[in-house]
Amino acid sequence: MLNLLILGGTSEAASLVRQLPKDVSPITSWAGRTKTPPDLPGDVRIGGFNGAEGLATYLRENAIDAVIDATHPFAAQISKNAAEACEKTGVPRLLLERPAWKREKGDNWIMANDLADAAGQLPTLGKRPFLTIGRQHLDAFTGITEVHFIVRLLAPPQTPLALPNHQIITGKPPFSLNDERQLIRDHTIDLLVTKESGGLSTYAKIEAARLEKIPVLMVKRPAPPPGETADSIEAALNWIAAL
Ligand code: NAP
Repeated sequence: MLNLLILGGTSEAASLVRQLPKDVSPITSWAGRTKTPPDLPGDVRIGGFNGAEGLATYLRENAIDAVIDATHPFAAQISKNAAEACEKTGVPRLLLERPAWKREKGDNWIMANDLADAAGQLPTLGKRPFLTIGRQHLDAFTGITEVHFIVRLLAPPQTPLALPNHQIITGKPPFSLNDERQLIRDHTIDLLVTKESGGLSTYAKIEAARLEKIPVLMVKRPAPPPGETADSIEAALNWIAAL
């Protein structure tokens, strides 16, 4: 049996665990941000490890043979910790990296190096920006007073947002192209602000922006730590088989 730790929090992690061969014993790890993580085969653990050092200890104590980092492309800290912990313990690690979206004809993307850069550029690009970057990243935009934000969140916030002029809409992916186009029209949105997350479940907003001819302010992904990567579940399964 191969003891495999999968760092999750993504649909890719869940899909991978469901397709593992019988001679792999998986433990899927969630950060604990969502109240109801999916029902998965194998063991599940929830909560942080306490940094790279804590993760290294966990790998040793649980005799983990390999780690697959299937976390979100913007979850940079846990990926860095995984790289450090695996380096320290000699445990093989694979980064399952969701491919980024590709620019198509008609796309008007303005790239931002990070959230601060996006906030700096935003006032020159639109008056009714649609923020689809997640609750935890909104702070970067709180100083912008001259626009009206339309903010999409997974659920209503527990505490009021610090953004000056805004309205909140809630919704969970996947979103349809028609709904995304309608939303842009209904709210007279003139700029889409998104992270370069990739994946199909949120791609409709990118297509909708193209068809509605509005620009997209796209926050670039943080660079992943060096090491082996796979861009599909099939490639990750091949990596596991080769171990
Ligand atoms: P992060 O900034 O990279 O990680 C912050 C801390 O959360 C880590 O240092 C670690 O705590 C803990 N952590 C993160 N992922 C974990 C996991 N899978 N298992 C156990 N502990 C984990 O991560 P984040 O951006 O807050 O994202 C948290 C989770 O949500 C990730 O698992 C990610 O896959 C998922 N997610 C993130 C985004 C996004 O845009 N960032 C979007 C969708 C899903 P310790 O240092 O205590 O170990």
